[in-house]
Order: sequence, then structure tokens, then C-alpha cells
Amino acid sequence: MTVTVRLLRLESIPEADAARIVEWAARQTGPLRVGLEPRPISLDASGTELSWSAIFEALVRYREDARVSEDEYLALLIDRPNEMNWFAGSGVDFVDQCGEGSLLTHDRDLFIATEDFSWITPCPPPALRLHFMLKKVIDAELRDRGLAPEQLRHDPGVGCFFDFCWDKAELATKLRSSDICPPCLRTIEAHGLDGALLQQVVAIGEETRRHSLTISSYLDRAPTFQAWPFPLAVTRHRITVEAPGLRRMLYLLDHFDSLVRYAVFVASMQEGKQLQLEERPSLGWWVERLAPLKRVPGVKGALRIANEGKVVKLRNELRGHGYVQHDEVYREWGVDLDEVLSKMEDALGDLIHRGELVLFENVDLDGGRYIVRGLRLTGSNLIHAPFERALPGPPTEHGFSTTGEIGLLLDGDDGSLTFESLHPWLRRTRCPECHHDRILVADGGDRYIDVFMGHRVELDA
Ligand SMILES: [Zn+2]
Ligand SMILES: [Zn+2]
Repeated sequence: MTVTVRLLRLESIPEADAARIVEWAARQTGPLRVGLEPRPISLDASGTELSWSAIFEALVRYREDARVSEDEYLALLIDRPNEMNWFAGSGVDFVDQCGEGSLLTHDRDLFIATEDFSWITPCPPPALRLHFMLKKVIDAELRDRGLAPEQLRHDPGVGCFFDFCWDKAELATKLRSSDICPPCLRTIEAHGLDGALLQQVVAIGEETRRHSLTISSYLDRAPTFQAWPFPLAVTRHRITVEAPGLRRMLYLLDHFDSLVRYAVFVASMQEGKQLQLEERPSLGWWVERLAPLKRVPGVKGALRIANEGKVVKLRNELRGHGYVQHDEVYREWGVDLDEVLSKMEDALGDLIHRGELVLFENVDLDGGRYIVRGLRLTGSNLIHAPFERALPGPPTEHGFSTTGEIGLLLDGDDGSLTFESLHPWLRRTRCPECHHDRILVADGGDRYIDVFMGHRVELDA
């Protein structure tokens, strides 16, 4: 058995958006195959709302013109509100709701809304659209087997695949559960819905569920940032565990600061550029330092994203004023900090993953070979794992000159090993404030930031 869905889009919907739904569907194998139609269609652009008759007339016409077989589903993505404000609808819904039986539409003609539902659920848009599509496909498959899906409808919802979600907010609960309640499951099984199809739908639902939880960003990000240099991993970790609100926004700004600083340190060293910090450098000052480093891959892009994202302006607006403003400030500014930061992280990917950040602690001569040891400063955990590497020649020839310094351990393609010191920009020493050994990040003069605790401290010169 194969269930084929041909995905059609309105001209105003980018092809990439539709393609991502196809990709999402293909992640779980099974009888369902979703393919993208080569060309979009257009509908009368007048008015803000699409009438159901306009939608289904277009589907019927397309099905005829493109010779879509009766067995195949034809799903149209729409990006304007639809007459009845449904997430998705089929030809049968159309006849039910609008009573227009004259149009030769049927259960395999579908429309899927692509409006922004991020106010309801963190579920990524392609997964959400796929969910709407699957719901309609399963409805039609059940109808073929003599079961009216309306019999399964829950209103209000109970966290079941068949929740109607008349109250749109219920969608979040439904996706978070991604379950089928026992009576519904028994009924489906009794009507002989294809087991492999059900399995695929459940597998897609399970993946969608992971992305629909409030803690999703934590689930997804954790493995990524745990390989990052400690100062960046710490500031990123904080964001993922903080609920939306002012505090999270401040953590986002800290992470931005942390990313820019780290990029300035690493890129300056890579370029062999002298770096002179001014007293109490501002965030704007750090961002400007990126400009002369534009030749380092990723820096130019990061600088552009930082400027376009108006992050410095936003930070000054927020923290330069004496009063804390409400959380809507950054939305009013049209700044999506999460997005700016993801882009920055992507742009700076090569710099973030340049070598491995380590603390060089000591060197030994063992049977004629030099062994360097220290701690690996990756991930947000305070317990740092040790490292030990053998050197083919004297440590100084490989950059290991002063113990106690933090730097990057670089493995060359030719098997060589080099240590690039980041001293004094990054240091590991006793924090005068909390009296623990901490990783401190330079803040001009003798001032440092204890990134883990978040306080600024002054070290004895
Ligand atoms: Zn149910
Ligand atoms: Zn401290």
C-alpha cells in the first residue's frame, strides 16, 4: 500500500517552505509519500480571506489539468486566512460546511493553512503543516473504511490525535501529547486502518512531539553546545533553561556579548593582530572590533547580522535606562533575539569549533617524549575533563610555553599539534568574588567577567 500526497503551493509561498514539509515527512519511512508539485498556482489575490469555494475549485481544476489520479491526495498550501478559519480541510468538509455538492471535489482534495501559529505552539512550521495534512489523510482513509472521522472528534480536546481544536489553543496540548486515546485507537484498529501507515503517522507524531515541548530548545541544543568552548556553552545553556521573559532576554544579550568577545579573541589571534582592550569596553566597542577581522571566515557575516539585528541599540535601550522595561520592547523593535543569535552562531561556526579550548597545566618528559596535560574547557559543566597529548618535539616548538594558560589545541592535517594561547583574554584563576577557580573573560584593564556566576571582578595586576 502506498499513500501518495502531491503537495501544491500558492505562488506567494516560497518553494523552500513547501520542500521542508516534504523533508519532514520523509524522515519516517512508511507507506506515506509526500512529493512537491513542480509549479505553484495562483488564486485571486483580492480580499484578505480565501473562500472555501475558491480553494476547492482551484483543487478540482488542478487535479484535472495535472491528471492527478483519484487515489492520490492533492494538498494545497495556503497563506491567507480561510473562510472558516480551519487548520486544514478536505472536499468532504467543504460539502458538509458549505453544502455545495455540485463541485466534483472529494476527500483527497485538501488545503493546509500555513499561517503563523507560533503563538500557540513552539512546533516548527513544517512539522505543524505535516500534522494538519496527516490528520486529513487519516480522516479520509477511515472514511474509505466506513468510519466517519467525526465520530472520533473530541471537542473540547483530550490530548488525542482526533481533538478538533475548535479552541485553537488546544493545538499545543494535542501536539505535546501526540497520542491517540484508547477508544479512538480501538475504533481505528477495528476498522482496519493500515498498520504501517498508522506506525508512520505515530513516528512522525513522536518526532513532532519532541519539537512541541516547551523544553524543546533544551532537548535539541544540549548536544550541540556541549561541544562548545566553556564561556559560550555557559551563556547558551542559560538561555535554554530559562522561561521566556525579561530574564531570558538579558541572558540572550549576555550570550551575544559572549559570542562577540570570543570571536574577537580567536580571530585576532588567528590573524596575528594585536588586541588592546579599552577600559570598560561597551558592547558596541566589541562589535566594532570585528570589522578589521573581516577576512577571518564567518566574521563578516556575523558583523552584518549583529548590525542588522540592532542588538547593541536594543541592549543600550534596555540597560542604559534606569528602569526595567516590559518584555515587549524587543518585539516592538522588530528584533527577534533568538533568531539573531542562531544566525550569529551559524556564521561563527568555524570560529567556535576552531581547535579545542583547553587549560595547559603541565608538561612531562616520559621515555624521551614530551607529554602535555591539562583540562578540556568544553561544555557548560564546571567539572572539566583532563587531556593528555604526546609531542614529537620540545613543547615550546608547539606553542606550549607557559603553564596555566588557556588556549586552543589545534590538530593540523599533517598530524601536527599546536597550542595557541588566549592569555590574558581568557584566564583560569581564583575568582576574588566567589573564591573558586573560575574561567574569567577579559573586560578591559584588570577587570574580568566570571561567566559562570555572571559577576564582574577585578584581579590584582
Ligand atoms: Zn481520541
Ligand atoms: Zn566568581
